[in-house]
Amino acid sequence: METITINQCPLCGKSHTYNLEVERSFVIKMFTANETRERPKPVRITRIFYCPIKESEYQGNLTMYETSDRQIKNVTVKGIADE
Ligand SMILES: [Zn+2]
Repeated sequence: METITINQCPLCGKSHTYNLEVERSFVIKMFTANETRERPKPVRITRIFYCPIKESEYQGNLTMYETSDRQIKNVTVKGIADE
């Protein structure tokens, strides 16, 4: 499972680490000889996170990277990770 760390929680100012479930789609590509290596492009995703200190939810942004053959389909926050 992937994790994401919010460095500064808007509610308590501390950092929290969350488990993420990331769904990616795989596209089979036919590679050509002169294909240049693609740079992953950032995708900004907004999700609701739970602050365990203030015991309330806040909206946070995270940045994930995708390429044309590995696109991000869905990201689910699965709760706080052990720190
Ligand atoms: Zn917090």
